[in-house]
Amino acid sequence: MTERDTTTLRRTEPSTGQGDDDDGVAHIVMKDDQMKGYITGEPIRALCGKVWVPTRDYQGLPVCRACSDERDRIVAGMKNLN
Ligand SMILES: [Zn+2]
Repeated sequence: MTERDTTTLRRTEPSTGQGDDDDGVAHIVMKDDQMKGYITGEPIRALCGKVWVPTRDYQGLPVCRACSDERDRIVAGMKNLN
């Protein structure tokens, strides 16, 4: 992967808040949303609130800490219900 050059170029462009895919982390999304994003190309929302269009395989990237925290919260909430 040599995406450094494009990353540098993108910094000079105004951010739209969407489609910025250079976090270097894997965000956690609901499976349905993830599939929708891949199929329709629509922006999806991660657990941490980030909205972006998934365009590549995120395997091997470190998991977004905010997403991980949120997932723990959700799992804890499910346990409380049972
Ligand atoms: Zn995240």
